[in-house]
Amino acid sequence: MAEHPHGCTCFIVPPKMLRKLAEQTQDATERHCLLDAAEISAHLRGQRSVAPVVLGIAAAATGEKRRTVYDAQNKSKLPGKLARGEDSKPSTDVAVNQAYDGAGATYDFYREVLKRNSIDGKGMRLESTVHYQSKFNNAFWNGQQMVYGDGDGKLFLGFTGALDVIAHELTHGVTQFAVPGGLVYEDQSGALNESISDVFGSVVKQWTLKQNVEQADWLIGAGIMAPSVGKALRSMADPGNQALTWSGDDQPKNMSGYIEDGDVHTNSGIPNHAFYAAAIALKGNSWDKAGPIWYKALGLLTPNATFADMANATTESAALLYGADSAEQHAIQAAWKVVGVT
Ligand SMILES: [Zn+2]
Repeated sequence: MAEHPHGCTCFIVPPKMLRKLAEQTQDATERHCLLDAAEISAHLRGQRSVAPVVLGIAAAATGEKRRTVYDAQNKSKLPGKLARGEDSKPSTDVAVNQAYDGAGATYDFYREVLKRNSIDGKGMRLESTVHYQSKFNNAFWNGQQMVYGDGDGKLFLGFTGALDVIAHELTHGVTQFAVPGGLVYEDQSGALNESISDVFGSVVKQWTLKQNVEQADWLIGAGIMAPSVGKALRSMADPGNQALTWSGDDQPKNMSGYIEDGDVHTNSGIPNHAFYAAAIALKGNSWDKAGPIWYKALGLLTPNATFADMANATTESAALLYGADSAEQHAIQAAWKVVGVT
């Protein structure tokens, strides 16, 4: 068993969004749910730094897809009660089936498109827990498994219904293993960690829907929130465009808007937009060229990688895949120029 210091407890909804919505609501119950989720997020994130997750215990013996979904029954103990295993019948519980199917689609994408055998590359079991706590307004990867709240039902409508959310969280696991030493979850390496999850969250959704780069919505978290809150958490096509996302979206799309000491979910708009620009320039399907280039770059990063390091790594991986001075490599370099990273 190997200890891995740079796994993260990574949430899909940034705590600052929860706090901002709490300020806006007049409803005491809604406010309570929002602040509760923000506090739990901060608490769990703190826990991780003192208790590095021990990995290797959940590896499957074979290279097969192995999914397990548990039900926390509105409590916080993980993983909870077994609700569905691989090849067992669908549950009567919609959230259980959505978590199961979403993990399956994500596994299939990594296996078929990127030739990766699960999160750790060695067939690791995909474990998910649904109905975490009561009306919990978030979903997260805790270094070992996926955890989904139900949402309060008014502002957040649940998290298992959005495939990009599921793929985002499982990709935090991939990053933990594919980047040598993992990516530290703060500053630019933290924003890169977030961005890589958004990138593959969106690509997995596009691959499943068979959408090319023009057809894709490039949104993260569409469908998890009530229309009164917004349409999505983030837009990769136009980071910070509140008309496409929600009223507090402050993501920069260029280094000129970089926020010093900003939240990892904020500055991630910059590498997100670089991926979008690269995928649009390369045309066709994001999973044919841009996705594999980004994926190959993960192995070239170090735990404290900066945006410039990611620009170099993707430029190098484009050369490895398509040749130095190839049109693909030029497209990658141009995409990083679009966002002001050189
Ligand atoms: Zn995340």
